[in-house]
Amino acid sequence: MADQRPNIVFIMSDDHAAHAISAYSGGRINVTPNMDRIANEGARADRCYVTNSICTPSRAAILTGTYNHVNAVTTLATHIENRLPNVAKHLRTAGYETGIIGKWHLGTGPTHCPTGFDHWCVLPGQGAYFNPMMIENGEEKIFEGYCTDIIGDMSCEFVKNRDKSKPFFLMSHHKAPHRPWNPPERLKDLYADVDIPEPETLFDDFETRTEAPRAARMRMEDLKLGEDLKVEAPPPGLDLKAERSWRYQRYIKDYLRCIAAVDENIGKLMACLEAEGQLDNTIFIYTSDQGFFLGDHGWFDKRFMYKESLQMPFVVRYPKEIPAGSVVDEIFTNVDFAPTFLDYAGVKVPSYMQGASCRGIFKGETPDGWQQASYHRYWMHKDTTHNVYAHYGITTKTHKLIYYYNKDLGQPGSNPGGGEPAWELYDLNADPLEINNIAGTPAAATIETDLRRQLDEIQIQIGDVPEHEPDQTALMV
Ligand code: CA
Repeated sequence: MADQRPNIVFIMSDDHAAHAISAYSGGRINVTPNMDRIANEGARADRCYVTNSICTPSRAAILTGTYNHVNAVTTLATHIENRLPNVAKHLRTAGYETGIIGKWHLGTGPTHCPTGFDHWCVLPGQGAYFNPMMIENGEEKIFEGYCTDIIGDMSCEFVKNRDKSKPFFLMSHHKAPHRPWNPPERLKDLYADVDIPEPETLFDDFETRTEAPRAARMRMEDLKLGEDLKVEAPPPGLDLKAERSWRYQRYIKDYLRCIAAVDENIGKLMACLEAEGQLDNTIFIYTSDQGFFLGDHGWFDKRFMYKESLQMPFVVRYPKEIPAGSVVDEIFTNVDFAPTFLDYAGVKVPSYMQGASCRGIFKGETPDGWQQASYHRYWMHKDTTHNVYAHYGITTKTHKLIYYYNKDLGQPGSNPGGGEPAWELYDLNADPLEINNIAGTPAAATIETDLRRQLDEIQIQIGDVPEHEPDQTALMV
């Protein structure tokens, strides 16, 4: 008798913000019918957060079920040590056929290439949008066509050609909609005749905020005319405000065109699973490695703990357990993904993993003691192109606490302009746009003390080293 354990299809794109999925936004800026179908026939998670809002570290956390200070993949330049255990290795040992197709971004060569996969075909580094070179089981090959379509087609081939005596685990990782946002020819005129609505905070002046958001170079004005906006110069006669609006339109339209191609390819893979009679026996997930600023706060890019960057879109379909049209309101993070996959596969979660299985919360049954806060830490402050300060902090259902420690940590040249260590605190109910920093105000003193205590406890629990002076009582048994 065939193995009845569920398949797991994990589709992940790169830099796709939740508010560019109509299941989240109500279709404010775009429509994504296939992503919405997953949410409508399964669940949409509203508090899925990344633990380090940047590509390579998020991928390492997903693969290993550990935080970046443990797996040591803290920046884009720190590639994974592939002798580490990972979720694919555990599933393969347990009898799953395993595959990864598309973006890997954890390094190449014998010590960084994918391990634990029966089949792998990945882009080196960021990869190319058109006619990409990919590394298939160690061999470099050129594939002609548009990258998103190639990854979609290869994912279908993996499903069709699988060993039918086994369940399978497929990571299908799109490069899109990563910068520089090159859409396929067939979608290049999508939105040509419409204006995309602007976000409320496009002209944020950062009043009340600390130095860190002011110092970041992720403003619409930091987009490159040629490579990013694909034009030689702005139209003549624009004032600063009008030019920001013009830049937003140029940027967001190509971004959304890339997403439209991802959505089409999700539909293709679902149709393939249906044709194979496997869709309803598959945990079918769509997510992104982190969120993205879509003109929010005047920015593109990610890296910060503010909502648009911190939130990972996450929709999951599994009709045997997950009620159609449900919304998951509990907090979980990318460190929880690997334990979740193992739980569905009936595989014991190994002791080194730091996350928890989300199987219960996806069913609408929250386990006792479920996490009430998520942790985030960003280390890539040596990247002076974007110039985002090193920081860590926690997010609860009601508040967000951020500490910009602004020390170079022995890395001369980081954070030009310096900056004193500084806290930010946001009341997410009163201030959902996160524009009113209340850290240090008398009215916030009690909640700030409580959140500092929670931060100290989480850092102790996961073994991360604080840069602020922790409350010594949190260290006591
Ligand atoms: Ca990314």
